[in-house]
Amino acid sequence: MLAEDLELGNATYAVRGRVRDGLRSVEHLAAWLRDMRPRLGVTLTDADLRGTADDDLRLARELRDAVRALAATTTEGRDPDQDAVTTLNRHARRTPRWRELRTAPEPRMTVCAAGRPVEAALAALAEEAVGLFAGPLRHELRACHGPGCVLYFVRDTPRREWCSPGCGNRARADQTIIWPCGDHSTAKRRLGFVASRTPNSGAPSTSRQPEDPLPSQRTVATSPTLPPSPPRRRRARNAG
Ligand SMILES: [Zn+2]
Repeated sequence: MLAEDLELGNATYAVRGRVRDGLRSVEHLAAWLRDMRPRLGVTLTDADLRGTADDDLRLARELRDAVRALAATTTEGRDPDQDAVTTLNRHARRTPRWRELRTAPEPRMTVCAAGRPVEAALAALAEEAVGLFAGPLRHELRACHGPGCVLYFVRDTPRREWCSPGCGNRARADQTIIWPCGDHSTAKRRLGFVASRTPNSGAPSTSRQPEDPLPSQRTVATSPTLPPSPPRRRRARNAG
């Protein structure tokens, strides 16, 4: 499971080696917020989502890129990107939020915000990211090395290597291929497997698009410079 604090930073993916921006429009952001609604720190109604504005999109993309930049420096053991730190903190304090008691029909707590709800939800996401990068879980942050994957995840077990079971399955399947020549990396690059991997850099990234298919993170061999004989797969002993 991906850490909730990373969800916005992971609003990105790669298709056939190309990073896609899933927050390309207000509609994309509204759809992403709708999917995330049960896990957001601020309650968003349908009317709130319909009110998603261009400025929200700009804020979301800026925050997403800051989270990814910090995830990159953290996982690579580098000093934090100070521009990203400044951006993250600015987003976290953008919209004051507080909890209030409601008593009808039953006692419950509700989160209130001074600004618009979508803006407040983004600020809450920024605050959660502050908690991640400042707390002990940052040591468990990893970049997924699944074929073509550009996501980050928080390791919940010492042996976890992938953001999802799907990435693990693709990586294991990749490892079962027997390459016909000694230079495995060259053969794999020709077939597009290595080329499909987009580095988890802090570069401006992207989000999963509502209308796009799920990322098909393995590319198909189309190069005319393919090795003379195709790779063979072992039986499924190591797969799965
Ligand atoms: Zn992955």
